[in-house]
This record gives sequence, structure tokens and C-alpha cells, in this order.
Amino acid sequence: MSEFIDKEYDVVVCGAGPAGLMAACTYGRLTGGAGRVLLLDKKEPWKEPIFCAEAVSTGRLNALWPISKEWVRGGISGIYFTSPKGYRAEFYSKDCGSLLDRSRFHHALADGCAAANVECHFDTPVTKLSREGDSWVVQVVCGGESRTVRTKVVVDATGPGCRLTRNIDCLKGIESGDTDLEPAIFAVAEGIEHSREHIELFFGSEFPNGYGWIFPRDGVEVNIGFVLGKDHDTPVPLRQKLLDFISQRYPGAKVKAIYGGMIACGQSRRPLAMHGLFKAGDAASCVNPISRSGIVESILCGKIVAESVVEWLACGSDADRVRVESSVLDRWMKAQGRAHLQIANAKRSFGKISDAQFDRAAEKLSRIPQGHASLWRIFFTVLSACPSLIWKMRSFLR
Ligand SMILES: Cc1cc2nc3c(=O)[nH]c(=O)nc-3n(C[C@H](O)[C@H](O)[C@H](O)COP(=O)(O)OP(=O)(O)OC[C@H]3O[C@@H](n4cnc5c(N)ncnc54)[C@H](O)[C@@H]3O)c2cc1C
Repeated sequence: MSEFIDKEYDVVVCGAGPAGLMAACTYGRLTGGAGRVLLLDKKEPWKEPIFCAEAVSTGRLNALWPISKEWVRGGISGIYFTSPKGYRAEFYSKDCGSLLDRSRFHHALADGCAAANVECHFDTPVTKLSREGDSWVVQVVCGGESRTVRTKVVVDATGPGCRLTRNIDCLKGIESGDTDLEPAIFAVAEGIEHSREHIELFFGSEFPNGYGWIFPRDGVEVNIGFVLGKDHDTPVPLRQKLLDFISQRYPGAKVKAIYGGMIACGQSRRPLAMHGLFKAGDAASCVNPISRSGIVESILCGKIVAESVVEWLACGSDADRVRVESSVLDRWMKAQGRAHLQIANAKRSFGKISDAQFDRAAEKLSRIPQGHASLWRIFFTVLSACPSLIWKMRSFLR
């Protein structure tokens, strides 16, 4: 980290989560370290705790950022699907996914940024963005002092909520990012019997439009929690609901800490860039609407945004810049967004599955011998256990 060396930048990236780190690093690499790029975060991006269950698809992450054992807690070779009555079906695949140590992963991405000549300032909140002529003015607090920097491009990678870019007149019409905020809460706990190679998912009316989970951490601790649909209506506060879930199923468990956060799931068709402001990651609502995975999605989105920013800065006219801006949504849609729109349709049907249907399907699946439950077999077993699902899922199958 260095002092501010220049008050004029080509690009200021606000937020150093996966989206911002990847956007800054990709931009730095694409410009051979010659671009003037500043990366800001209100905290140190690897400071614990990071509110996340830390599971990713190994193959998809590896294609974007080579996986290193330095920041992986372990591999997952199976998923247990548990129904409301406790029937447990197993999906086995040698390479189901990886559990990250996100703090270390962020550190690795930040090292990549430093190597690509990105100027990084952490513990530096951005307090305000405003438009002046053809530039953005970015107000920050650095070492307790208020500073102002100017830039041609801003990347908003500040996560769910988009507080920074709300209420800016020239950005009316851009993706607001706050349409589908879903609450998620988890505990780091010990004393919960689990398999180190499996994640366990819980479905049913206990988690309306969402699901519960247990993700292993180090063989002793687990991450146990749940996410609920945005219109959830629970009679007890989420923290109490989590403690009840844990104590009813795992009476001997010891809860060490509880964390919560919001997940931005609503894929929209609004633009992702306007007037030199680009959105990436959760700020662009690029989370998978059903699995709620957002780490790889944010990295992919950060990469797409950085590539677009390089093109935008090379444009010779406003018309070309507008063309690049409107292409960002198209690029995202092609890479992931279209699939997310379909998944969002399936999610509506998924939310209508009754507990009895989950139980019937899971009971049938639990009879398939270990290692024989392919995703297709699971799919067709579920459909045969609950024929009405075919009707409910017609929008997804179309
Ligand atoms: C409980 C929970 C569990 C999850 N589990 C998983 C999982 O298992 N797998 C998965 O793939 N995804 C998971 N997700 C989703 C995943 O965490 C997010 O999709 C991902 O972190 C989004 O990355 P991002 O870079 O867009 O935003 P963030 O990771 O939220 O990063 C935004 C950054 O911006 C900074 N910031 C915010 N405001 C300002 C400001 N004004 N000035 C400067 N900096 C600012 C923040 O400090 C933060 O570092 C989970 C989410 C939650 C809440």
C-alpha cells in the first residue's frame, strides 16, 4: 500500500471483494501496469470475518484464477440433500467443489493487484461519488482525513445494497442492485457431526424459498446457517431461528460466533454501466438465484467489467463509449446472466415444493447406492416422486 501519489486516475475501483479485486487486477494486467488505477476498500479485504460459507465450483474458479492450496480449506466430493423429516440423499462427484479460506484468497488477489501496478488503499471508505463535467469525483476518508480524487471511470464493486450509487441523478435507470436482497445467517460451531468432504443442504418450509447448510471448515469447526427468500416471514428473529435450528438438531453443538449478511440475487435486465460508472459483483446483482453462489460470479463479472473499461477508455467518441457501456450487460448475459434468468424462474417453482414432496423425493433418492446418484438421476427421481413438479417447473424446462 502506498500514499496517494496522484489525484487523477483513469479508473477508481470502489470495494475490494472478489469483484473489485478481480476488476482492478485484470485492468492492471491488460494495461501492462501502465493504467492509473486505484483500488479502495473501507476495510482490509482479508480481515476476518468474511461473511460467507466459502464454497465454490473448483473448475469454474480455476478457469478464472488458478486455484492454490494456499487458500483452499479442502475439496468437496459430495452433497447431502436432507428433507424436512431427515431423509438424506447423497450426490457424489469426485470434484464437486472447493471450500476457500476467503481471507487468504483475497490476499492472493490483492498480491495480483500489486503485481499489476494497482494502487491499493485499504481502510479507506468511499463516502461520496459525484459527476463533474466528464469526470467522477470520489470522496474518501484516508487516515482520518477527507480526500478527493478525480477519475474517468468508477467501478462500483461495493457489494449488495449499492448505497454509493443510489440517488445520483445521471445514473437513474442503472441496475439498482437492491431488488432481491435475501438475508443469510450462519454460525461457526463445533461439536456437529459432519463429513469433511461433504456439504449438507436442508430444504423445506423451515427455510422458505431458501435452504439451510452445513459446510465443513477444518474437520472440527463447521459453518452452519441458512438463507431465506426475500419475502420470508419468520416469527422469530433470524439469530434465534439459527440457534433453534442448531440446538434442535445438534444438542451438543458449541456456537463460537454468529455472522449475517445480505445476498443480492435478482438478475435484472437494467444496464450495468452508464456515464463511465460500471457495476460489478453483488453491486450488479450477479449472484446465482438458487445456489446463492456469488464468489466465482463476482470474479467473472469483475473480469468482464475490466475488459469493457479498457475498451471504453480507448473510445474516441461519446457514441462509442455508450456502445461499450450497453455491451456490458450483453456480455454478462451471454456469460452467465441468461442462465440466471432461467434459474430465477425455476426458483419460483422450487419455492412451491411441499415438505411432503421433499420427503418423498429424498426418501426415494436415499435408496440409490452411493456413487450412483448422477444429477440427472436425482432430477428424474425427484420428478417421479412428485409429478406435479413437472408442471411447476415448466418455465425452467421451456
Ligand atoms: C452468509 C453468506 C454466505 C455466502 N456463502 C457463499 C458461498 O458459499 N459461496 C459463494 O460463492 N458465495 C457465497 N455468498 C455470496 C458471496 O459472499 C458474494 O456474492 C461475494 O462476496 C460478492 O463479492 P463482491 O466483491 O461483489 O462483494 P463483497 O464481497 O461484498 O465485497 C464488497 C467490498 O466493498 C467494500 N465496501 C463497501 N462499501 C464501501 C465503501 N463505501 N467504500 C469502500 N469500500 C466499500 C466492502 O468492505 C467489501 O470488501 C455468501 C454470502 C453471504 C452473505
